Amino acid sequence: MAKEPGKYPCGRCGCTPEGRDQDGGRWKIFGGDPTAPEIVSEICPRRLLTHRTLEFMRLYGHYKRGVLPVAGGLLDQPAAYCDAMATLEQWLTDG
Ligand SMILES: [Zn+2]
Repeated sequence: MAKEPGKYPCGRCGCTPEGRDQDGGRWKIFGGDPTAPEIVSEICPRRLLTHRTLEFMRLYGHYKRGVLPVAGGLLDQPAAYCDAMATLEQWLTDG
């Protein structure tokens, strides 16, 4: 996805096939300071993520509700899945 963003339109933000804002604006992502964005980008931030990252982000919601992708408990899940959930959890709780 990140290598060929034109082939994978977001479907959520309405950006152009090239990942640009339709009004020529920029994406601003704010952190702790609501007056100063931490990231300003001319390219849709979703285009900077790989398909695998987006899939893990989708699974994170299920993870938080206790729904796991593989039958069994947490120790039955693939190591990559457990690592991704731990990383997302840390990013989201550290702000
Ligand atoms: Zn987009």
